[in-house]
Amino acid sequence: MTRVHTFVGVVAVASVLAAVAVERSWGGAELASDRGLSLAIFAGLLVAGELHSVTWLKLHDGGEITPSWAFAFAILLLPAPLIALVAMAGASVVGDLAHRKPLVRVVFNAAQTALSLAGGALVMIALGQLDALMMAGDLSPAWFAAFVLAAGVTFAVNGLLTCIVLALHDGTRVVAMLRRGMLVNFVTDGALVALAPVFVVVAQRSALFLPFVVGVAALIYVNSRTVLATEHDATHDVLTHLWNRRAFLARVEREFADRSPRRQCALILIDLDGFKEINDRLGHQVGDLVLREIGERLDAARGPGHVVARMGGDEFAVLVTQFTQLGEVTDWAERLRADLSRPCQSAGFPVSLTGSFGVAVWPDHGADPDVLFRAADLAMYGAKKVRNTITVCHETAVGTGRMALLADLEAATRNDELSLWYQPQVDLVTGEVVAFEALARWHHPRLGLVLPDEFMPLAEHTELMAAVTQRVLDVAVRDALRWHERYPDIRVAVNTSARNLHDLDFANAVERTLLAHGAPAGILELEITENTVISQPDRTRAVLQALERLGARLSIDDFGTGYSSLANLRSLPLHAVKVDRSFVEGITHDAGDRMIVKSILELARNLGLQTVAEGVETVAAMEMLRGYGCDVVQGYLIGTPMPITETLQWLERGQGTSLAVEPERV
Ligand code: C2E
Ligand code: CA
Ligand code: CA
Repeated sequence: MTRVHTFVGVVAVASVLAAVAVERSWGGAELASDRGLSLAIFAGLLVAGELHSVTWLKLHDGGEITPSWAFAFAILLLPAPLIALVAMAGASVVGDLAHRKPLVRVVFNAAQTALSLAGGALVMIALGQLDALMMAGDLSPAWFAAFVLAAGVTFAVNGLLTCIVLALHDGTRVVAMLRRGMLVNFVTDGALVALAPVFVVVAQRSALFLPFVVGVAALIYVNSRTVLATEHDATHDVLTHLWNRRAFLARVEREFADRSPRRQCALILIDLDGFKEINDRLGHQVGDLVLREIGERLDAARGPGHVVARMGGDEFAVLVTQFTQLGEVTDWAERLRADLSRPCQSAGFPVSLTGSFGVAVWPDHGADPDVLFRAADLAMYGAKKVRNTITVCHETAVGTGRMALLADLEAATRNDELSLWYQPQVDLVTGEVVAFEALARWHHPRLGLVLPDEFMPLAEHTELMAAVTQRVLDVAVRDALRWHERYPDIRVAVNTSARNLHDLDFANAVERTLLAHGAPAGILELEITENTVISQPDRTRAVLQALERLGARLSIDDFGTGYSSLANLRSLPLHAVKVDRSFVEGITHDAGDRMIVKSILELARNLGLQTVAEGVETVAAMEMLRGYGCDVVQGYLIGTPMPITETLQWLERGQGTSLAVEPERV
């Protein structure tokens, strides 16, 4: 920011010096008295023009198209150069104050317009052509040349100063900015300035003609305004007025094309937690209000060099183009995260939600936009698991090789590197094992054992998930058949991902697998996380119904962590509910957790669903669950996940059956 301030100071001093130079070189010649009316009209139009300037959106939000240049040049040609400078600067100040621009911008705009115009004036004076238009007789070609040159100098200075200040502000390279910025300036503002001599000549004949010509000019102006507004609509999101996805992607492409790799850039992807729930429960109107308010907060939080966009739905993105250390970016994100978690009030009542942030840095985490977006997306996904946090890419994906891991997983599904470990679920009344939950284990050739929490979320994001689940199903059914003959009532429970249950072919895949192994459908239980159901209820329902027709048992996993209510799930063909282990862990010491577990169990029972408590680690917890009427328990107390051979041995030893007896003897 200080560099910007210094630059603005320099421009301000230069503009005063330029005004003195104009005053000296023009010699302060008197303005003919009959031009007072024209002067007053031009000055009035100049101010009016500034008040109605259109923000020049193409050039970030720095440049503007203003009709004022035409009137400033008209005053210049009267000839009243000093008055033109003062009027231009004054009108700029009035306009900027009316638009509530920050003080630095007010000063900069006034100084830079005056300085630019002074450049043009000095050219005309030096070439001896400043008063030629008002003299009797024909204009020489030299006048036209001088006028074009003067206009050119004015816009060159104006464009240069604007681009420098924007480059200092945004951290983009000046040259790149100039290439983009100058052309648009010349075309739009240049066309308006060409009218200046026309205004003057007309006013010289009679000031009363002015309304006609100015009227035509206004039409042209309004027209270009409409063009800009259309362009604004095409590049901005209607709801939040932030940049839209397409414009943002284009901006990111341009940014990387122009940028020196030494100057890092950060991409932040933000996904709102629980927004779908708000939309579903409170309606789209409330959802829209909330999104708009979040958009406003994002926009307000925007610092120098930040580009903020709504990528669609409840996903936002920020490109940070100016920072020296990543800590600045994460600090900023942290403040934004805290700000977003303030309840939204725009619906008339408080609506709370939070955001999960994924950060990736160019060029470290990806040199081209695609890779960088993927990296940020993975980081965001990591954050999403915890919710309301910020995850930087290198902590999750690229740094620890998770991107590479994803590539390895592809091979793993073919090379027999994935195996399943089984964890028993025991009926609290009979003490019998009712099922084994199959938990994926990946024996990576280099990394050793990789746990599902590390690779499933990655796979979930890709087409690979179908292959992984297919592999898991195959192994699970094959292994279950190994205990099936002796223990025909013990099922195998397989975890499914959202991707599986949104895939209308999934039930067919399950059926094919059972057929291939010659296994009865009753051997299989499928665990479904509740968020799967929420995100695409209709599709999921169709898939679940097909699975139910097959004869597979269905249970809701991790219940209590999502935002569904059991009542919502009632219409689905479910058999059991698994209370999430985060609540079960707390039941012995946390009254809140106890309440939650108790009410989930009660409600499930009333709805005719079986209940399973997972994460049971202590006898005290188990006894409490028994007291609340829980049907089945699963956890380290009963048995940890085991490879298939150990599982079979464990069964033979009859471990599970001890649970039905009195607590002291367990
Ligand atoms: P989950 O379905 O909630 O599985 C239970 C997790 O809790 C397992 O972790 C298990 O080892 C752990 N656990 C069991 N008993 C206890 C206990 O008493 N205390 C504690 N603290 N933890 C216990 P794991 O095997 O690391 O699996 C983690 C998650 O990965 C699973 O959570 C499941 O969501 C996912 N997952 C595992 N295998 C598969 C699979 O084949 N397909 C899919 N889609 N997801 C899978
Ligand atoms: Ca599970
Ligand atoms: Ca679970």
